[in-house]
Amino acid sequence: MNKPTQSLKGKVAVVTGGGGVLCGVLAKALASEGAMIAILDLNLEKAEEVAESLRNEGANAIGVKANVLQKESLLAAHSEVNEKLGTCDILINGAGGNHPMGTTAKPFLEEGDLDQEDLKTFFDLDPEGIKFVFDLNFIGSLLPTQVFARDMVGKPGCSVINVSSMNAFTPLTKIPAYSGAKAAISNFTQWLAVHFSKMGIRVNALAPGFFLTEQNRTLLTNEDGTLTARGNQVIDHTPLGRFGKPEDLNTTLLWLVGEGSSFVTGIVVPIDGGFSAYSGV
Ligand code: NAD
Repeated sequence: MNKPTQSLKGKVAVVTGGGGVLCGVLAKALASEGAMIAILDLNLEKAEEVAESLRNEGANAIGVKANVLQKESLLAAHSEVNEKLGTCDILINGAGGNHPMGTTAKPFLEEGDLDQEDLKTFFDLDPEGIKFVFDLNFIGSLLPTQVFARDMVGKPGCSVINVSSMNAFTPLTKIPAYSGAKAAISNFTQWLAVHFSKMGIRVNALAPGFFLTEQNRTLLTNEDGTLTARGNQVIDHTPLGRFGKPEDLNTTLLWLVGEGSSFVTGIVVPIDGGFSAYSGV
């Protein structure tokens, strides 16, 4: 492994959803390059746990409770981060995810489905579930950006990283809300990159392919660790033939927040083992 260069020394990185699987690893990558880290999460215990593990490796890191859907909560987190670490240079909008209420039971509507009372079809989707998913992914990226990117105005070398997904390019079956919300994130990444361009604040997004995490483990694997039918479908459509490992995101993230990408803004980078390039035939 290459020796860390400490290229982010002195920078303050705020990672929302940092108590989670992927963003915990992203936070570690930023810390390994010398950044000070604020782990923001709805779950303070998880945020503290990640922050502590970073501190144990010599980083300056704090865990902060924050709800990305509430501006007041974010403003309180912002004050705490400013006071303990300084103003924000890097914002990772990582909090996000799907909800069963925004998910259909089957990929296709077929003959006889509407006669089955217990089968959740498109017609049964609850608007509250759809709103939850849109809010968590879209509003949950917009509000933290309103609160933390203010620190970046007039400061060189700042950037925002959003987290999109494969389903933003082509929607995945069963999850219309999550697919639409992540498409909105990709679109917002471009919009914000243009809007912030004259201030020198760059905005880009990671689009992870399929990473086995707690959110999707039961969708993709059985209890004995073998793949479900959907898990097999994913691997069959991933030319590199495996799920992603959280660490697969690290070098792209470090490139996007570092000086090496200083002329790059408004892009959404697939890190997907070729999933988005493959038609399946
Ligand atoms: P995760 O569930 O492990 O982590 C999400 C974290 O967000 C959790 O710690 C949770 O407590 C926190 N959170 C939830 N609601 C919040 C709120 N309102 N305010 C603050 N924090 C909140 O998820 P993950 O799999 O690591 O995913 C991280 C990001 O990557 C998400 O945006 C997800 O949509 C995206 N993503 C994941 C995959 C994958 O394969 N796992 C693929 C593509 C994109």
